[in-house]
Amino acid sequence: MTALWLRDPIGILADGAERGVVVDNGRIVELVPAGAEPATPGAAVFDAGRHVVLPGLVNTHHHFYQTLTRASPAALDRTLFPWLQALYPIWARMTPEALDAAVTVALAELLLSGCTTTTDHHYVFPAGLDDAVDIEVAAARRLGIRAVLTRGSMNLSQRDGGLPPDSVVQDEDRILADSERVIGAFHDPSPDAMVQIALAPCSPFSVTTSLMRATAGLAARHGVRLHTHLAETIDEESFCLETFGCRPLDYLEQTGWLHDRTWLAHGIHFDAGEIARLAAAGTCVTHCPCSNQILASGTCLVCEMEAAGMQVGLGVDGSASNNASNLMQEVRAAYLLQRAHYGVETVSHRDALRWATTGSAACIGRPELGRIAVGAVADLALFTLDELRFSGALDPLAALVTCGAHRADRVMVGGRWVVEDGAIPGLDIAALMRRHAAATRVLHG
Ligand code: ZN
Repeated sequence: MTALWLRDPIGILADGAERGVVVDNGRIVELVPAGAEPATPGAAVFDAGRHVVLPGLVNTHHHFYQTLTRASPAALDRTLFPWLQALYPIWARMTPEALDAAVTVALAELLLSGCTTTTDHHYVFPAGLDDAVDIEVAAARRLGIRAVLTRGSMNLSQRDGGLPPDSVVQDEDRILADSERVIGAFHDPSPDAMVQIALAPCSPFSVTTSLMRATAGLAARHGVRLHTHLAETIDEESFCLETFGCRPLDYLEQTGWLHDRTWLAHGIHFDAGEIARLAAAGTCVTHCPCSNQILASGTCLVCEMEAAGMQVGLGVDGSASNNASNLMQEVRAAYLLQRAHYGVETVSHRDALRWATTGSAACIGRPELGRIAVGAVADLALFTLDELRFSGALDPLAALVTCGAHRADRVMVGGRWVVEDGAIPGLDIAALMRRHAAATRVLHG
C-alpha cells in the first residue's frame, strides 16, 4: 500500500496537523504541521481542501435489529417498560433475512455519518435466529466497518418475574454455550482488530442473577469485555430495590461486574457516591442522548462523571428509541442536552466530539481508536462544509456540531476508503431499503 497524504484540510481535530496527515499501511504515520511538507517519501496526495477531518467516530451502544421497528405505532409515546412490552412480540417474529437487512441498514447509516467503529448489543434470539452474531459479523466485514459485537442475552421471562415474554428468552446453558462459541469463532484480541466480541446480558429486569455472575466469569476467562443497560430509568431502580433489595449499582457489584472491563449503557440514575465507585472501578458509561430524550428516561450526569475521572462515550442506542443510527447527529444531541444541563462554560462542541471519539474508545478498551496521532489506526471521517446549512460558517470544527453535520463525504477505516463522495461503494441503497421495508412489514404482521 502506498503512503497517502491527506493534504491541507480546512479543519482537523488534532494539534500540529494543519497541513494534514500521512497514512501508510493502515496507520497514521505522520502529522504535517503548518508550513511543512511530509517527511514520508513518495506519498500520494489526496486533496482534502474541501474537508474537515475528524478521527473516525466510535459508537458504543446500539441494537441494529431495532431498525425494523422505527416509529412503530405500538411503541410511540411510551416510557421504557411499556415501550419494551409493546415491541417484544414484534421482535419475536424476526428472521435471519430480516436481521441481515436491519444490520446492513444500521451499518450503512453509521458509516455515512462518519462512524468507523461500532458496537452492537443483540439480545433477542427467537427460534431460528441462533446465528444472529454470525449475521452481524458477516455484514460488518462486507461493509468494512470495525465492530465490537456483543452476544446479548435474556433468560428472565414474565413467568419468572421478568419483563419479556417466553418467546424471546433462552436458557442459561444455551446462552453460555453460544457466548463461548462466538468468542472462539470471531473474537480477535489484537489491538487493531476489525471484529471483537463482548458479552452483554440485557438488563436487571430480563436476566437472572445466576446468568449475570456466570457471564462475568466467562468474560474474565476469555479476556472479553462486558456490557449491559444500567440505571436507565426509575422503573429499573424500583425493580432492583423490590427484587434484589438493592440499587442497580449494588447489584452490578454483587454480580462481579464493577470493574474496568465493563461499560454501561445510559447510566442516568447514579448518585455522587455511585459515580465515585464507578470511577474507582474504571467502569465506563455510554451516553445515549437521543434515546434518553425520546423515552424521557432522564439526563446522564456526564460532566460529574468526567470530573470524577470516568470515561464517557457516546451511543445512538437502538433505532426504535432514537430512531436514527446517525452518530454525528448524536454528537449534536449530546452537545445540546449536556449544554442545556451544565451551561455554556462547561460544555463545548469539543467535549461532545471527545465523547464520540476517545471517550467511546475507552468504553471498549481500544486506545488506538478515536484519535488522530502518529501510530493510531487510520480511521478517519471527512466532512465537507459545502451544504447550505454551513454557508458562511467560520470555525470548521464548531460548524460540524452547531450547524448539524449529518453526512460524511469520505470515511476511511484502517487506511481503506469505505465511503466515497457520500456513498458506500458497491452498496445499492435503494435495493437495501426495499428489502428492509419488506422485512419490517412482515414483522408488523
Ligand atoms: Zn439499548
